[in-house]
Amino acid sequence: MQLNRDRYTGWGRVLSAAGGRARPEKARMLDGAPLGPAMGQRRAYGDAALKSAGPALDMTRLDRMLAFDPDTGVLEAEAGVKLSDILTAFAPKGWRPAVLPGTGFATLGGAIAADVHGKNHHEAGTFGAQVLSIRLIGSDGTARDVSETTEPEVFRATLGGMGLTGVILSAKIRLAPCPSGFVDVDEWRIGSLAAYLEAFEASDAPFSVGWIDATAKGPALGRGVFEEARVSNRAPAFAPVAKSRNIPITPPGFVLSGPVVRAFNAAYFRRIPSAGQRRTRPLASFFHPLDGLTNWNRLYGKKGFHQFQCVLPPDSAAMTIDTMLRRIADSGLAAPLAVLKKMGAGRSGPMSFPMAGYTLAVDFPNRGGAEALINTLIDQTVEAGGRIYLAKDSLATPAQIDAMYPELPDFRALVRRLDPEGLFETDLSARLNLRGAS
Ligand SMILES: Cc1cc2nc3c(=O)[nH]c(=O)nc-3n(C[C@H](O)[C@H](O)[C@H](O)COP(=O)(O)OP(=O)(O)OC[C@H]3O[C@@H](n4cnc5c(N)ncnc54)[C@H](O)[C@@H]3O)c2cc1C
Repeated sequence: MQLNRDRYTGWGRVLSAAGGRARPEKARMLDGAPLGPAMGQRRAYGDAALKSAGPALDMTRLDRMLAFDPDTGVLEAEAGVKLSDILTAFAPKGWRPAVLPGTGFATLGGAIAADVHGKNHHEAGTFGAQVLSIRLIGSDGTARDVSETTEPEVFRATLGGMGLTGVILSAKIRLAPCPSGFVDVDEWRIGSLAAYLEAFEASDAPFSVGWIDATAKGPALGRGVFEEARVSNRAPAFAPVAKSRNIPITPPGFVLSGPVVRAFNAAYFRRIPSAGQRRTRPLASFFHPLDGLTNWNRLYGKKGFHQFQCVLPPDSAAMTIDTMLRRIADSGLAAPLAVLKKMGAGRSGPMSFPMAGYTLAVDFPNRGGAEALINTLIDQTVEAGGRIYLAKDSLATPAQIDAMYPELPDFRALVRRLDPEGLFETDLSARLNLRGAS
């Protein structure tokens, strides 16, 4: 199979690789193809889906739905199917993926490998909780079915294992009932971080998330817009997904300069009436608000951007987020995209990101000072007993990851046993020493 030798990047467009990519059109073409780590739509921000030192497998053409049981909601699909395709195909039939991350472009393989979470994490746990079995290609090139019954250790390590246990060819997942194509969303302004955390604690809605103004200082520190949503009682019709618009060129870096971002954030905050508002929104626009603008990552200019995402345990969350927000606002580097969310304890594998507490995610244009700031935020996360999300990272060090993922030694031993030659090594695993010394 031919390799595409073009340079390619993750979603943040800061890190890149040119180790070559094979893009099989059919599963049988994988026989004899150069084996390397799999990649989906490269919605991971950093280097999780990059391989500089050899070929990688682009799974996006392996996007067939293979079987569906309408009695149980069990779907079998190839790894390259996008989650938005599953939502579009099955919501009109009354089913949806139980967990959806903030982009519907994530593939089934990418969602399993990162054990993604959604706006209902506090209730539903991670994506892995709905995975019944995985067809996994091992380092010897053969495929086998892996599940909690057949190989529990390998199964769990694959959920959140960032592709290091093998190539996910297809999977069986259990969809959740979906009585309506709409959600009723209540949104209101929040004036401070303390009020934010109170709102999350008081909410009994299945879906909740908050936009936070990471440029606000002084008494406005921590202000934002809180959103909670429930599946609507409206007729079970499914709204057609609006066509995406594209950003055709990479605009100059000043589009997201400090004053522009501060002005945007102030307007975004005031967009919500002071008494709050209720809107009924189609599922796709609620779950994937940014997907309407394809390639929005180009707005950050040619140098790209970083996302910092951490999760902090309940006892240290309030104080740590407060200090983080002060540092971020003082730096003048924050972008409009900053999100706060309550998380439950659910995680499916030893390398899964979530823990009970709060997660903060902030975008930073790749400008002077951003890397040093993010490193300080990662250190603060370690000190507070939290962890950062591998699917978003491009800057952490092995020592920081060792301190945040206590099950890493066992994961390393398993990965080295499954893949002694490091065929599935990625730039992320090499940078963070996720395979350990051989
Ligand atoms: C706008 C936006 C919003 C997001 N919101 C959220 C969110 O709310 N919650 C959340 O959890 N994440 C979120 N993410 C992150 C995203 O869901 C994950 O990075 C996901 O893994 C992307 O899927 P992908 O198909 O693009 O995978 P890629 O980015 O291509 O790959 C990610 C990892 O999965 C591995 N992988 C991919 N396919 C396979 C396969 N077939 N077999 C084995 N390994 C594979 C890769 O090797 C890599 O390690 C968001 C990303 C964006 C851009």
